[in-house]
This record gives sequence, C-alpha cells and structure tokens, in this order.
Amino acid sequence: MAQINTQNDPFLSKVSVEELRIGGFLDFDPPFDDSIRGGILPLFNYSQFDGLSQGDYQLIAPSLRLATTILGQPTLLPFWYALIFRERREIQSRRLTLRYGRHCWRFDLKPGGLTRQECVRTWQALQTMRQCVRFEFVTLQGSDGTTNRNGTRPGLQGYYGMGSKTELSLEYLKVLRDFAYRESGAEARSGYTPEFPGLNASAIIRARYHLAKTIVHEMGHVVKWATTSPQETRVLFDEPHPLEPPLEPFFGDQRRAEIGYAWESMTFKGLTFPFGYPSHPSAPFGLGVYKWPDLIDNDDPCRGPSRLPYNTRYAVPMAWAGSLWSQQHWDNVLQHGIEANWSSRRLGVRLYRQRPWNRTDELDECLSVEDEEDEDEDEDEDMDEDEDDLGGDDGPVDENRAAEFVLRERLHRIKTKRWTVIRDGQLTTLEINPADRDGDDSSVERVDINGVVRLHP
Ligand SMILES: [Zn+2]
Repeated sequence: MAQINTQNDPFLSKVSVEELRIGGFLDFDPPFDDSIRGGILPLFNYSQFDGLSQGDYQLIAPSLRLATTILGQPTLLPFWYALIFRERREIQSRRLTLRYGRHCWRFDLKPGGLTRQECVRTWQALQTMRQCVRFEFVTLQGSDGTTNRNGTRPGLQGYYGMGSKTELSLEYLKVLRDFAYRESGAEARSGYTPEFPGLNASAIIRARYHLAKTIVHEMGHVVKWATTSPQETRVLFDEPHPLEPPLEPFFGDQRRAEIGYAWESMTFKGLTFPFGYPSHPSAPFGLGVYKWPDLIDNDDPCRGPSRLPYNTRYAVPMAWAGSLWSQQHWDNVLQHGIEANWSSRRLGVRLYRQRPWNRTDELDECLSVEDEEDEDEDEDEDMDEDEDDLGGDDGPVDENRAAEFVLRERLHRIKTKRWTVIRDGQLTTLEINPADRDGDDSSVERVDINGVVRLHP
C-alpha cells in the first residue's frame, strides 16, 4: 500500500497534525457507547455478500449495524420515499437535453412530509431491495464503492428497472483485519507485520463509519437501478432513439446528479472524506467534510458549474464519529431533526475558485427551456448565494404549465424553510433550508486567515 502522507492535501498543508490532535479530530477519548438498538437489516445479511468469510463479516458487523440505523432513520425516509415513489419531473432544459442526448429528470421531497403509512411503505421497499443487489469487497482504483447494473437480478417489483452489484473497496477489510489481528494478540505470537502500523481504536471508528456511509451511499445507486427505466437517447436528433441505461435523476435543484452524494449532503451536511494523500479509509489524519458539489466537478450529469467563490474543508470531530453508535445520538436526531446529526464546523480550510466566474461558465448552465434567451438573467446574482438555488430553472413549456410551475415552486420555497422533523405521530418531514445547504455555517462569523477558518468554543 502506498504511504499516506500530508503532501498534496490542501487541508494538511495549512493545518498541522498537532492542531488536529489538540482539537479532538484524531483521538476519541470518551468511553465508546455502543448502544444503537436494532440489529442488521436482512438486506445486509451475510448471505448478501459474495466471497466473504464469516470472520470478515463479523469485522464489518458494526458498520452494518450503523448502516441499518442510518438507512432506517425516520428523519431520512422522505429522501428514499422521494426516490422510490414520487413521480419524477422532467427538467425542461433544452440545453441539458442536448448535452446528454436525452430527457433529464429530477426527484423532489414530498411537501408536508410523510404519513406513518408512507414511512412504512418506504421502509418495506428498502427491505425488498435485498432481491435487487449483492455486495462484494474487491480491489477498486480510486473509489470506495461502486454500483453497476446486473441483469441477473430483478429491479423493484412494478418498475422497469434492474438489479445491481455493489462493489466495496477491499481496503476497508484490510484495515479491519489488521486491527483485529493485532488486538487478538496473534501479531506478537506470529511475528505478523501489520500493513497499517499506526492503527488505533480511533482509526477503526473512522473506518467503520466510512464503510457504513459508503454502503448507504451505494444503496442510492441500487435504488436508482431498481426503479429507473432505460432511457431514449439522441432524442433531439432526427435519428432512431436507442434505449440506454438511465442517467441518475437530479435531486431537487441540485446542479449535479449523484444520488449517493445527494443523500450524504442531506445526512451529514456534506461529503465525508479522509485527510491525507492518497485517500485511505484508515484516515490516519482524521476525516474532513465539505459541501457538495465542489467548485470543480466534471463527473456525473451536471446542470452547470458552481457559482460559489470558495468551498471549505472542515475537520470532523472524533467525538461526533464515536457518538454515531450511541442510541442517544439517534434519539436526538429523531427529536430535533437531521441537523442534530451534523458534525460541528470548528476548523476549516477554504479552497478558493482559481478564476472568476465567466461567460463560459454561464453558457455551461442548463437551467431552463429558455436557456438561450435566459443567458443574461442571472448575471447580477450574488456570488455568495446558495449555488443550488438556481432561480428560473425548469421553465415551463406552455402557459398553463408555467402558472402551475410558478405556483408549485413558490409553495416549495415557502415550505422548504428548514430541514426538520415534525413528529406528532403522523408526519415525518424532511425539508431543505436553502441556507443550510451551504457547507459553511453562515450563522457563525468566521475569520479567514490565510485560507484557514477557526472557531474556538
Ligand atoms: Zn455514488
């Protein structure tokens, strides 16, 4: 395995390992509270994994219990409900259609939240995904996990979708095996040389969390394959329209379509990643989190480049990572909403846009059916505004639809003031507060000194 170092990591070039240690971003001190209720969902049973030994399954069991807990959070079920059951809306952007040669779609949260019945229905559908997917740990290049369609398994019943195979990075297993081997004392007896000599209990918490997060991320893609029909391509061309595997739908107004990242953004207020280069699940320098989409993202279906002037990488406190296995943490989330799951942002490094927003960026935006005519409309938009709040998108085709669209968007904006959960025994609501979609906590004044922002408690 390549040595993981601090070079080429923009965060570690500005923040020392010592500062991370003192700040509580590397070591987990309090007693580990492993009290989450509920076991492992049948979806993640041993029989769902190809080529895994019973011993290795035991090593990943804590991650599977956490994955089960996160997947089943009533607070987060509206995301899965939207993906599985809500009718997808076509994005009325000719530019976008031309770019990908097909109609592109979005899925949105149900306004007003879910009824208990809808929660149950969503939970049942997620359990049914067991038939649609299998998992395997394999060597992956530059990726923690990937999900590809697999025709030997069915899609979700009632959909013209298909099954899939989720591959997870073998590095996760190597880290967990290494640690278990050393803990068992076998190392001393056999002279075994650990592959990751710096591993400690804190690194294992990070690796277990990271694996759980990756598994649920991949479930987003599993659900996509299971519920999304093949799509006609070359639709604006005067040629036959062949059917091809579907692109991912966009979530709400997001400018990139990546269901797993959309889910992570909602659940963790950003994407969690290991500091250090190359990136490794053992995360010897701790974990960071940043707002997605990043300033530069060229992968995945995209409706336009970021308008943000900077993006901040924040260090993730170890106390937070450790608390994920505590039932009290999830009881808190249930009571106060998904915000209670977000780690605090106390130490960050800002990465600034290398060049100003320009005409080329603007021409790259696929916002509405009137793309061409609209070009200058957003010119005065404040660069600090939330980048996903793309005004005037999804324009209408005719006047009736226009009126309906405007009304719906207005209602949507009024209702989506906060991400919150209303638990009156009937409703589970998850709503998006545009201000909260910015990875930078705008409620706190931050001083940026040479690209580093620090908030001392
Ligand atoms: Zn993904």
